Amino acid sequence: MMENYPRMVKPGHKPFDPVQLAYWTERIVCRREDNDHMRKYDSIHVAGVYRGISTGYAVGCCLRCIFCWSPPSRDFPEKYGRFLSSFQVFSELKRHAEKAGVRKCRLSGCEPTLCRKHLLSLLEYIEDDPYFRIFILETNGILFGVDKDYVRRLTAFSKVYVRVSLKAGTPEKFTEKTGAINDAFELPFRAIEHLLEYEIPFHVASMSLDPRIMDLKERIALASKLISIDPKLIDYLEEEIVDPYKMAIKRLKAAGITLKWPIEELYRPLKELIHNIKDLAKKKF
Ligand code: SF4
Repeated sequence: MMENYPRMVKPGHKPFDPVQLAYWTERIVCRREDNDHMRKYDSIHVAGVYRGISTGYAVGCCLRCIFCWSPPSRDFPEKYGRFLSSFQVFSELKRHAEKAGVRKCRLSGCEPTLCRKHLLSLLEYIEDDPYFRIFILETNGILFGVDKDYVRRLTAFSKVYVRVSLKAGTPEKFTEKTGAINDAFELPFRAIEHLLEYEIPFHVASMSLDPRIMDLKERIALASKLISIDPKLIDYLEEEIVDPYKMAIKRLKAAGITLKWPIEELYRPLKELIHNIKDLAKKKF
């Protein structure tokens, strides 16, 4: 079964369907035991981002981004991690959070929307307990794009805040950067539409501040797509650069891409550029 499982993207790779890969990966990293929905985890601890956030590092993703920093469990989910129930994860997240004095939590190093029942059960524990104030759901948007009802289920939770991470601005670049088929490029944008429709609090992140990984044409295409959905998305857009984590460098190398470190030049943030254009338009008319 595993010989065709997509690992790191290499030159000439055969693009995969990320929805199929999500289901395939779920068969490896999700398990039902007694009445609980388990998922594989590498570790749970407090990370320094977001000024300290209790983080469950779960196993398994449905993309294969060439700049991904996640541990090898992303590519070899059958080899890594141990199964934990949603209650075990909640208890560990809370234990680490209390020790560090933080009241935020998230899942990372994976795609948290895999193992839906596990995630929804974890969100119930977080919702019902007064300790945590927010759960930041960082997603690539594939499963939220393909299943609107999954997004509707989030309306039951008051502490969920979603961050949708866009990987590319055109279908071709999406395939190059994630290994997934062109057709799946639209799914994260559908996810954004579903989040808007159900009024789930969220913002969009994109790997678009880094000229080494996104050329101008692709950046304009990405901005145009977001503006066509809702111009306000640009106001809150979080633009990222590729960070030189060990696994990111290894994956870039495997894909045949060499980046210059440290980065020498960044784009100007899109929100600044758009505001400048708006100001110019006001002056002209
Ligand atoms: S960057 Fe995120 S979406 Fe991309 S492969 Fe890594 S964990 Fe998955």
